[in-house]
Amino acid sequence: MPLTLDQLNSASLADAAQMLEGLYEHSPWIAQQALAQRPFASLAALKHAMVSVLAAASVDQQLALIRAHPELAGKAMEARTLTAESTVEQNKAGLTNCTPEELAHIRQLNADYLARFGFPFILAVRGPRGNGLSKREIIATFERRLDNPVDFERGESLRNIHRIAEIRLNDKFGFEPTLGNEVWDWHEALAQHSDPGYKEHGQLTVTYLTDAHRACAADLQRQMADCGFDEVGVDTVGNVVGRFHGTTPDAPTLLTGSHFDTVRNGGKYDGRLGIFVPMACVQQLHAAGKRLPFAVEVVGFAEEEGQRYKATFLGSGALTGDFNPIWLDQQDTNGVTMRTAMLRAGLPATLEAINALKRDPAKYLGFVEVHIEQGPVLNELDIPLGVVTSINASVRYLGEVVGMACHAGTTPMDRRRDAAAAVAELALYAEQRAAADGDSVATIGMLQVPNGSINVVPGRCTFSLDLRAPSDEQRNALEHDVLKQLQAICERRGVRDTLEETMRAAAAPSAPAWQARWESAVASLGVPLHRMPSGAGHDAMKLHEVMPQAMLFVRGLNSGISHNPLESTTSDDIDLCVRAFSHLLEQLASEHTH
Ligand SMILES: [Zn+2]
Repeated sequence: MPLTLDQLNSASLADAAQMLEGLYEHSPWIAQQALAQRPFASLAALKHAMVSVLAAASVDQQLALIRAHPELAGKAMEARTLTAESTVEQNKAGLTNCTPEELAHIRQLNADYLARFGFPFILAVRGPRGNGLSKREIIATFERRLDNPVDFERGESLRNIHRIAEIRLNDKFGFEPTLGNEVWDWHEALAQHSDPGYKEHGQLTVTYLTDAHRACAADLQRQMADCGFDEVGVDTVGNVVGRFHGTTPDAPTLLTGSHFDTVRNGGKYDGRLGIFVPMACVQQLHAAGKRLPFAVEVVGFAEEEGQRYKATFLGSGALTGDFNPIWLDQQDTNGVTMRTAMLRAGLPATLEAINALKRDPAKYLGFVEVHIEQGPVLNELDIPLGVVTSINASVRYLGEVVGMACHAGTTPMDRRRDAAAAVAELALYAEQRAAADGDSVATIGMLQVPNGSINVVPGRCTFSLDLRAPSDEQRNALEHDVLKQLQAICERRGVRDTLEETMRAAAAPSAPAWQARWESAVASLGVPLHRMPSGAGHDAMKLHEVMPQAMLFVRGLNSGISHNPLESTTSDDIDLCVRAFSHLLEQLASEHTH
C-alpha cells in the first residue's frame, strides 16, 4: 500500500521516520530532521525540506552521505551487497547486464573519478523521466563529469542524490508525475524532426520553414486538436495557433506560448516547453468538460532564434505588428529568400497577410510564457520553478581597436600600442563592473586579432560586447561606465576604437498582477518561491510591447545548460509546471467570475 501525506503528517516521529527510511543511502538523519517541518502541504514541500536539511549540513556530513553510496556497477553490485533500492535502480539502467568490456570501462572510470574527487561517482541512473538512462548516456555523463572542478562535482553529486531520493519518495507514495511524463514524451517525439546535416548525427536543429520545421508544425496542430482545442491552424508566418474557447463567444483571451524553432544542435525544451505545458492544461480542461470565462490561445511561435534568417522574434513580432518588410528579401546561406521559403511552405508571403496577424490588445487579458531557465540558478538552489521579475535590458556592440602592429622582439614594452591588450583590459573592467551590480552581466564573447601572428604585437583587435541588466537605467549606467572606460583605455594606450551598436532591447519587467498569479501558483504547490530576472530574451519581450506579461521558469539539469543537446529537465519538474499553469488558469477564472 502506498503511503499518503496524511499518514506521514499525523504519524509519531518514529513512525514517520520509518516511513521515509531508505530515501538517502544509509543516512536516515536527513529525513528525520526534515520531519521537524511537518505538516507538509505536498510531496514537493517534503522534498524541499530534505534539500534544505542537506544544504545546511556541514561539508563533512555531505561528503559522508556521498561516500555512503555504492560505486556504479561496482564491486557491491557484483557481490550483491547493494541496498534493495540501489539494486532496482542499477537494474533499471541495465547496469547489471554490462558486457565484460563495459564493466572494465566503468571500473576504470570509477577509479579515475575516485582518484580525482575522493568520493564515488553518483548519478541518478533512473534519469529525468524516471525510467532509466541508457548505458551509453551513463558512460557519457561519467566521462563529462570527470572534467568538473571538485566543489562543483560535490554539488552535482548532492543534486543527483536528491533526484534519487525524489524518485524513491515517489515510489513510496505511489506518485507518478503522469502529466509531466506525458509532456516530457511530447518533447522527445517532437525532437525526432531535425534539419538535414544534423538529423544524421542525432542533433536537433529546426530552423524557420524547413521540412523539419513544417513537420513540427503539423505535429503540433494534430496534438492541439487531440488535446481538444476548438480551432487549430498555421498562420501566415508559420505560427501554430490553437484556441480553446471560453464560456461565451465574446470572452477575452489569455495569450500564451513560446517558440518551436531551435538553435543549431540545440536542446529539446527551449521554447517547446512553453507550448506543451498550456496544451496539457487545455487537454485536462477538455477531458473534464470544463470551459473558462476566457479563451486560451496557445501559439507555437515559428521563429525566435534568428538562425536561418536574421529575423529574431519573427513569430511573436508578427502578433505585435512588428514584422520588418526587408526580411522577405533576406536570403539564407543557400540563397533562398524568406519570400520563397514562405511560398514553398504554402504561405502567401505578402505584407498584407502578415500585417493582418497583429492582435488587438483590447481583446487580450495578457501574455504568460513558460520557459526552461537556460541558466544554473534554480539547479544550484535545488528549486523546481522560478518566477521571473523582469526580462533583462540589453545592448550589443561590435567593436574594433586599432593600435600599431610591430615586432614582438624589438619593440620595448613602453613603446607598444597593443590593440588586443586594450580589449583584454576592457574585458577585465567589464567583468568587474558588472559583478559589482550583482545582477548585471557583461560579456566579450568574441575577441580576434585579424591576421595576427606569434611574433607581432597586435595592431588590430575586433571584439563583441554584450551588456544586460534587469532595468533600462541599470543597463544604461553599466553601458556608460564600460564605454567611458574604453575611451580611457584607448587614450592611455594610444589606440583608437570604433563601435557599432547592433542591438538594443528595453527591459521587460513582469506585470505585477501577473507575476503575483505565478507566485500564488507556485506557492499552492508547496514549492519555495524564488524570484529571478531573465538573463535571456524571450517571446514575452515582444508581447510586452502591447500587453502585460509574466514568465515562469522551470529548472534545467546539467547546470541549466541550454542551446546544447545536454539541455534537460525532469518530468517531476514539468509536472509541477503544468500544475502551476492550471492553478493560474483557475485563479484567473475565479477573478473573472467574482
Ligand atoms: Zn527559447
